Amino acid sequence: MNAQQVREEFLKYFTSKDHKVVASSSLIPFDDPTLLFTNAGMNQFKDIFLGNEQRDYQRATSSQKCVRAGGKHNDLENVGVTARHHTFFEMLGNFSFGDYFKQEAIEYAWEFITEVVKLDKSRLWVSVFRDDDEAFAIWRDHIGVPSERILRCDEKDNFWQMGETGPCGPCSEIHFDQGPAVPCTEGGECGVECECDRYLEIWNLVFMQYDRQPDGTLNPLPKPSIDTGMGLERLAAVVQGEYSNYHTDLFMPILQKIAADCGRQYTKSDSADDVSMRVIADHLRAATFLIGDGAIPSNEGRGYVLRRIMRRAMRHANQLGRKEPYMYTLVALMEEHYGHVFPEITHNRHMVEEIIYQEERRFATTLDHGLGILHEMIQQCRQQEQGQLDGASAFKLYDTYGFPLDLTMTIAEDAGMTVDEEGFYQAMQEQKERARASWKATASVTSSEDLRHLESRHQQEFVGYDFLTSQSQVV
Ligand code: ATP
Ligand code: MG
Ligand code: MG
Ligand code: MG
Repeated sequence: MNAQQVREEFLKYFTSKDHKVVASSSLIPFDDPTLLFTNAGMNQFKDIFLGNEQRDYQRATSSQKCVRAGGKHNDLENVGVTARHHTFFEMLGNFSFGDYFKQEAIEYAWEFITEVVKLDKSRLWVSVFRDDDEAFAIWRDHIGVPSERILRCDEKDNFWQMGETGPCGPCSEIHFDQGPAVPCTEGGECGVECECDRYLEIWNLVFMQYDRQPDGTLNPLPKPSIDTGMGLERLAAVVQGEYSNYHTDLFMPILQKIAADCGRQYTKSDSADDVSMRVIADHLRAATFLIGDGAIPSNEGRGYVLRRIMRRAMRHANQLGRKEPYMYTLVALMEEHYGHVFPEITHNRHMVEEIIYQEERRFATTLDHGLGILHEMIQQCRQQEQGQLDGASAFKLYDTYGFPLDLTMTIAEDAGMTVDEEGFYQAMQEQKERARASWKATASVTSSEDLRHLESRHQQEFVGYDFLTSQSQVV
């Protein structure tokens, strides 16, 4: 089954169970200040769960565009490293708004993965929240999963919440054992609770029961509900017998095009070239879909996260020898693959190309500028007979010129020098603390004159990579 068939089979299955197919909402959350980007299928149904909105259906299913690159769910630093994380991905989901609850949700999920896409039952593991005896009993007695393959996990894995506040509840997850050939990257005793790619988490069934308040208390929802989410890329991988999402038909054509364009080979390994190609492919998808939904690279908020994603990809393209704007040429391929499912990609294709092109040109200038400054710094070190570039200088390059640490290190190495990495992270930490302090100061501003002053300062200063997304540290 190709990925498109997997998506269709999912929606078809839940349609046959009286669910209404609802189109994906935009990646830019409309009217929800608690959210940076849409991060789960349930986002667009939040108000229904909370009891603030009624619809004429109680069961829904969707394939939702998601981005996890900031905020509570942030996977940016995992991309390129794990075989299962993307910044942009599609989340397949089924939802019950006060209609069915645990038993049917579990029955449907099991039937879909064992009967429709026919995953091998003996490789499936499930988890439940610590004291959720009800879910445990459904899995063991009703579905027939052997109790040694049902794990009880704590809040970290089995209590799902959308953000710091909002709908949440205990959950039950389905994992697929990809076998010992997938090496444990955590270096420990590998088990289903391990954060590696072997026991791949494919589906999360959330038993929505509470509304988390800003002070942490849990208020019960008007009606217990169901919210499930399964990554299309992960499901496609296991259905196609591939251990990595990148080796499915969702990614291989893009990876092969990048390889051909850059005169390299994609070898399905962890070589530096392969990692670069995966980062480019992933970030290209994210940039295409984000811009297609109206995001624009900028120095603040959502636009800033988008800019970081794009620049990270551009740096990798640069490493593969593409010094001139390149990624914009790949948008056509995105349209070919996704235009029929997400028509906004077709409608906005030229705008997406133009914005990526402009951003690539801007970044090329930044890189040029940074390179000049780095060469001066290296000269100075040489004159002072220092074999190491200090951390503060490396951080200045990173923070002011968007110059990534590993690029600084590569160039320094070529010049026979090292870089004080520890000093770099220390400078980053200090900057974060300064940013936090000024954030607090901003919060206490009262007069409009102060506000104007702050505003003009904000426009002049480039506040640095970690000001807005302090949780992530891709350097
Ligand atoms: P993981 O533990 O692997 O990071 P998660 O527990 O954070 O996943 P959930 O919040 O439970 O993920 O999301 C539901 C489903 O969405 C997951 O079971 C997985 O199939 C998929 N998913 C989550 N994050 C990503 C991602 N970054 N890229 C691709 N698919 C994802
Ligand atoms: Mg996660
Ligand atoms: Mg998880
Ligand atoms: Mg999960």
